[in-house]
Amino acid sequence: MQRTFAIIKPDAVRKRVAGQILARIESEGFTVRALRMIHLSKAEAEGFYDVHRERPFFGGLTDFMSSGPCIVLCLEAPDAIRKWRDLMGATDPAKAADGTLRKGFGASIDNNATHGSDATETAAFELGYFFRGMELR
Ligand code: GDP
Repeated sequence: MQRTFAIIKPDAVRKRVAGQILARIESEGFTVRALRMIHLSKAEAEGFYDVHRERPFFGGLTDFMSSGPCIVLCLEAPDAIRKWRDLMGATDPAKAADGTLRKGFGASIDNNATHGSDATETAAFELGYFFRGMELR
């Protein structure tokens, strides 16, 4: 079993498709181990995306991530990190495969509905950024 960190981003919550995304998470075989709705501050979004601080899209990305509530999750499944990234699809919804969440629910590379950790180290950092140990038991 492996755990990964996921976000249902503010665009998806605003569009009221969070429930559909959660249903898909469960039907694809993930166990939701922890879940919370939060409205990130700009500083919290900047801390989360610190690796992208030098990128030209950092300001827009952190404005967007702090623009409304999102849902943060710990998902568990065999090979969860890869499996969740496959279910999300490509970063740019226009390039995402049919049947993926970003294809179905994303509008643009900025408003792409979901986030997922890309490696075991980032999953550990990202889970720890949002969840206390006792919430992940
Ligand atoms: P992810 O792991 O697929 O979410 O992609 P990254 O970690 O590389 O980027 C984080 C987020 O920044 C993405 O989900 C996009 O919303 C945004 N992003 C990444 N690359 C670009 C880009 O080239 N332009 C813009 N505008 N946003 C980007």
